[in-house]
Amino acid sequence: MTQYPDLQLYIDGSWRTSPESLPVINPADERVIGRVPVASRADLDDALAAAARGFAVWRNYSPRKRGEIILKAAQLMRERLDEIAFSITLEHGKPLDQARLEVVRGCEFFEWDAAEGQRDYGRVIPSEPGISYTVVHQPIGTVAAFSPWNFPMSQPSRKIAGALAAGCSIIIKAAEETPAGALHIARAFHDAGLPRGVFNLVFGIPSDISSYLIPNDQIRLVAFTGSTAVGKHLTGIAAQHMKPVLMELGGHAPVIVCDDVNPHEAAIISAIRKARNGGQVCTSPTRFFVHERLFEDFARTFTETAARVKVGNGLDPKTEMGPLANSRRIDAMEALVADARQKGARVLAGGERVSGKGYFFPVTVLAEVPEDARIMSEEPFGPLAVINPVSSLDEAIKKANSLPFGLAAYAFTHSADNVARLVNEVEAGNLSINTLEASVAETPFGGVKSSGYGREGGAEGLSHYTIIKNVSHRTGHLGAVAPQGEE
Ligand code: NAD
Repeated sequence: MTQYPDLQLYIDGSWRTSPESLPVINPADERVIGRVPVASRADLDDALAAAARGFAVWRNYSPRKRGEIILKAAQLMRERLDEIAFSITLEHGKPLDQARLEVVRGCEFFEWDAAEGQRDYGRVIPSEPGISYTVVHQPIGTVAAFSPWNFPMSQPSRKIAGALAAGCSIIIKAAEETPAGALHIARAFHDAGLPRGVFNLVFGIPSDISSYLIPNDQIRLVAFTGSTAVGKHLTGIAAQHMKPVLMELGGHAPVIVCDDVNPHEAAIISAIRKARNGGQVCTSPTRFFVHERLFEDFARTFTETAARVKVGNGLDPKTEMGPLANSRRIDAMEALVADARQKGARVLAGGERVSGKGYFFPVTVLAEVPEDARIMSEEPFGPLAVINPVSSLDEAIKKANSLPFGLAAYAFTHSADNVARLVNEVEAGNLSINTLEASVAETPFGGVKSSGYGREGGAEGLSHYTIIKNVSHRTGHLGAVAPQGEE
């Protein structure tokens, strides 16, 4: 019988608990389902020492052997898919079939990076005879990683996969509110025979852990996914210690709907995508800029589709959208809707929390929202969609680019001219046209402007986890010439 796992820290290849712990709450019924241990300073010191020993071993494994262990762990996670998905649904709330897809996606990140580790080529630079210039890529060292609660398994997978495939060791602080996804990853690597100390999993008070780990000499890279505010804070600590960062931060994705598409098809795809993960996705489509000729049709179909999304407990097979992951998101949705209403927006669907136990909030459609409403500049990170009319592509692109975010952007159009303009002018790390899929394992994912720095996945992903070393090597005699005038 599948059940929620016993939560522990994983340090130096062993499981341990802590006298201090935090409750884990099922957002569908607000019941406590487990307790996550809080790592002490001594636990963090042990993790740092273990990661140093683990790195010394792991960096000398061949990329092929590293890949074999990563692939074995991914295979175990695929075999345990139902158990992992069940844990995710309990702690996060998302429907079980979406949790299953998340586990598959996490495995794909491991499988992609395992192979990429074997293709992390350096190069030979042409030179004159007698000297060679060779560029080699080497693992950067121990990574301090911090993953968020919206995808309990696939978010930590991104960072663990990159670090391990590149030959690094890692200490990851996964999300305390949704700890089981990362715990299952640690179990799989333990069972796959990963050398001890290479992968350490901790939980605790986020600011205590980051402020202790990042300045430590053992840490050579800081990898974070979460809000822009926290990302800037951690980047500041890293900068004081001259550590590189990989930052996947907030977004506020625009969707430009041009006048040459079928508004009903675009609206149905959009409303269904908005409901995915309760809108708690950094790439969630939020600001819909719809050509005025299509506006009424698009808004009507979007609203009808949104109103049909079945909200409920993720364990119920009929559920299409689960609860929001925590009560902070409910508070944020209520505040953003109240503000938009007060500023004159029309609420076409949803708008109010579902009464009773659980953090349920329906897909909410706000139309003709004034520019000064908070939702127009603050990332909702929940199931809110704004639908506003625009009169031209110029206006849509200007509005799309008007925020400090630049993670994902979307457009619907069949015009090659429009596509050329969008590719050239939209400020985003990921632009998707006629699809709301923003990234897969084989494509690089990341943001521009305040949405972050660096890329995960694709051929680019491992570069952050490696250093570039240039080796100049003179062969034959040294060709030394004694300085003139010396005896
Ligand atoms: P938050 O800003 O308090 O925390 C965001 C994440 O950062 C959490 O996982 C948290 O544990 C971690 N964190 C916070 N302070 C930290 C510190 N000092 N050191 C290390 N980690 C720290 O907000 P929240 O209420 O948990 O989440 C809401 C906001 O976070 C959203 O508005 C969204 O912008 C952002 N978020 C983004 C992503 C993403 O995929 N980019 C994922 C989750 C949350």
